[in-house]
Amino acid sequence: MNLLADTHTHSVISQHAYSTIDENARYAAQKGLKMIALTDHGPGMKHTAPRAFFANYHILPKVLHGVELLHGAEVNIMDYSGKLDLDNDILSKLDIAIASLHPQCITFGSKEENTAAMIKAMEHPYIDILGHPGDPRYEMDVEAVFQAAKETGCIFEMNNASLAPDGFRKGSDKYMLELLQLCMRDGVSVILGSDAHFYTQIGDFNYVLQLLHSIDFPEELILNTSPEKLKKALKRNKK
Ligand SMILES: [Zn+2]
Ligand SMILES: [Zn+2]
Repeated sequence: MNLLADTHTHSVISQHAYSTIDENARYAAQKGLKMIALTDHGPGMKHTAPRAFFANYHILPKVLHGVELLHGAEVNIMDYSGKLDLDNDILSKLDIAIASLHPQCITFGSKEENTAAMIKAMEHPYIDILGHPGDPRYEMDVEAVFQAAKETGCIFEMNNASLAPDGFRKGSDKYMLELLQLCMRDGVSVILGSDAHFYTQIGDFNYVLQLLHSIDFPEELILNTSPEKLKKALKRNKK
């Protein structure tokens, strides 16, 4: 399988990541990737990119070292009503936006609360991807979240870092497998994201691929195989 895009990468502006955008793009080119999304953390997380970082993207090229750059964000879901930490002025101008739950921004709620927060974020017109679903610390109603994906066109991310043995989101494989099985049943596409916080992690989907292989997940439901297909599948590009 030829995976040509990585839709989840961080740079030094996130302050707990260690590479520049230039280093990320150079490495992506070396690895044979055609596209990466710049998805630094939104300003609701302390000590990360300020609002201005996302507002100023127009100064960046769209192609760097031969790699297409999607100007994006990993937006924080701030409460159980699905409040986001970037406003529509900015979100509407991005090429891609992931929304994720992080303990620094939202405490682990009840199953109902977490599920409501995820669904609200997925319903947002400029949220294209639900980032790292499956974190067992955020108990969720898998079937309800899956239905929301079908209804809203928001895409599930299969996050490689969630499956790293030394990672923060241990035990994510259970919910991820359940989501993948529902996607398989109903022909719903997913996106793989490395969640790289250092350039050598870009395009590394090793753990996710093991999970996909374990259930013979069909290649045609993996959007990273075609940057063109991937872009067309983003909710914001369907309007
Ligand atoms: Zn995240
Ligand atoms: Zn991330």
